[in-house]
Amino acid sequence: MALPPDLHMHTPLCRHATGEPVDYARRAVELGFTEIGFSDHSPMRRDDFDDWRMRFDQLGEYVEKVRKAQRDFPQLTIRLAMEVDYLPGQEEWIRELASLHPLDYFIGSVHYVSDSWAIDSPYKLSEWKNRDVWEVWSTYFDRLTMAAESGLFEIIGHADLPKKFGYRPTRDCTPLYETFLNAAKKHHCALDVNTAGLRKDCKEIYPSRQILELAFQKGVPITFGSDAHAPEEVGMNFKEAIELARSVGYTECLRFVRRQREFVKF
Ligand SMILES: [Zn+2]
Ligand SMILES: [Zn+2]
Repeated sequence: MALPPDLHMHTPLCRHATGEPVDYARRAVELGFTEIGFSDHSPMRRDDFDDWRMRFDQLGEYVEKVRKAQRDFPQLTIRLAMEVDYLPGQEEWIRELASLHPLDYFIGSVHYVSDSWAIDSPYKLSEWKNRDVWEVWSTYFDRLTMAAESGLFEIIGHADLPKKFGYRPTRDCTPLYETFLNAAKKHHCALDVNTAGLRKDCKEIYPSRQILELAFQKGVPITFGSDAHAPEEVGMNFKEAIELARSVGYTECLRFVRRQREFVKF
């Protein structure tokens, strides 16, 4: 059976990825993919918010880079998307972004638990030592629930990102997961089964088996993503991701065309 689409990958415009979209597409074809999607970090309303995303005036360039890959690799279906940071109060901005180009889907991700702290930043690792781990996880999942409830996203990115550096609360997180997944179900959000976690300190796919099991029970669909920041990361560890999803009970994942979803078997 065909590999499921890899719907999470980046471009050098975000300033922490290498390789052009055509290089990612070439790699995808080599690996036997029939569909991929670019979902680079979208601009914030203020370009000086941080330094790990494209600037607003680069949006057209981003679209053109993806269009070039589509032209050069007609045998591969290539979707145009963005990974958008969800921060409370940004909803209007996200709607504006959605109106500018014909995107296929939006991945809503929470990286920021406050305006100044992205929990996955290796440059802000010391913050973790000053914070209560449970509080960080619960703030994160509150925001992830709000992201799902916003109705702005087809996919929720790497749902248990706070585990990245191995900081895990001793308290049971099941209630946090339940609240989030109920919102995801209600607002038709898919979960990004994201293999990047295997390349981080947590050495585990995002989200965990426990979250995926709960998601399956509730009927929350999934997508697959390598979160590639370099061409050689395209499709990385998809075997493990597919095995995990199958072992939980999933046989289908989603793909998106102009923000309409379709189920595909994997
Ligand atoms: Zn990134
Ligand atoms: Zn992300």
